[in-house]
Amino acid sequence: MKAKVAFFDFTSCEGCQLDVLNLTGEELLDLLGAIEIVNFREAISNRSDDYDIAFIEGSISREAEIPRLQKIRAQAKVLVALGACACIGGVNCLKNHLPMEQALKMVYGDAAKYYDTIPARPINAVVPVDFYVRGCPIQTGELVKVVKALLLGKKPDIPNYPVCTECKMAGNICVFEFGKTCLGPVTRAGCNAICVTGGRQCWGCRGLVDEPNKNSEEEILKKHGLTPEQVVEKFKIYNTYAEVKK
Ligand code: SF4
Ligand code: SF4
Ligand code: SF4
Repeated sequence: MKAKVAFFDFTSCEGCQLDVLNLTGEELLDLLGAIEIVNFREAISNRSDDYDIAFIEGSISREAEIPRLQKIRAQAKVLVALGACACIGGVNCLKNHLPMEQALKMVYGDAAKYYDTIPARPINAVVPVDFYVRGCPIQTGELVKVVKALLLGKKPDIPNYPVCTECKMAGNICVFEFGKTCLGPVTRAGCNAICVTGGRQCWGCRGLVDEPNKNSEEEILKKHGLTPEQVVEKFKIYNTYAEVKK
């Protein structure tokens, strides 16, 4: 029997679901051999409420999303957060720095009264989450790895060490040497430091490692004549929820 899998979107840009659709032929065939997709608004017209594994994309940012997510949790044997918005709140949480009325007005102007909004939060602030596929957007290789582990009844092996480890293994020169800042020292690896390798820096989209070594980030900043305040704005982009919760 194939495991029945459903994908659901909440507040998001739907880019992570798009990445699922972008799986290469071989990866996709591998997955479809073992699972049956029964609900995936972005890809199929079927809408079944009979599923074993639910993937949730997006953060929670409206009251109506809370009971919807709770209903999915009650049905699914396994619930997986898909992407930064679902895993850590992500960019949607930037609005949490404003009063909600002001955020609504900025987006909808005079039509604000027709909409509702609440401070954005990751899905584990509402329901228990079994597994996380991180990133903005997700890495499809990691998604395949997680699905395979779930089907084998194993815990997916997701790195709990900082992006710097992968960055050094990739042979990159640290961007601090060029006067830039980077969140690699406190961010969970698993992306092979793709942004640094591509000529940028880490913005923290995979969230913090379990025990972020803030001293290490501070030491690096100090060594380069920088202060923590100079990375705070960068930190807010994806990790506002973690920061505000403390
Ligand atoms: S994590 Fe990024 S790509 Fe995925 S839904 Fe959120 S904003 Fe879009
Ligand atoms: S701080 Fe950034 S650029 Fe430097 S090693 Fe770590 S991940 Fe790479
Ligand atoms: S380098 Fe940082 S921002 Fe880029 S994908 Fe990896 S965790 Fe995300």
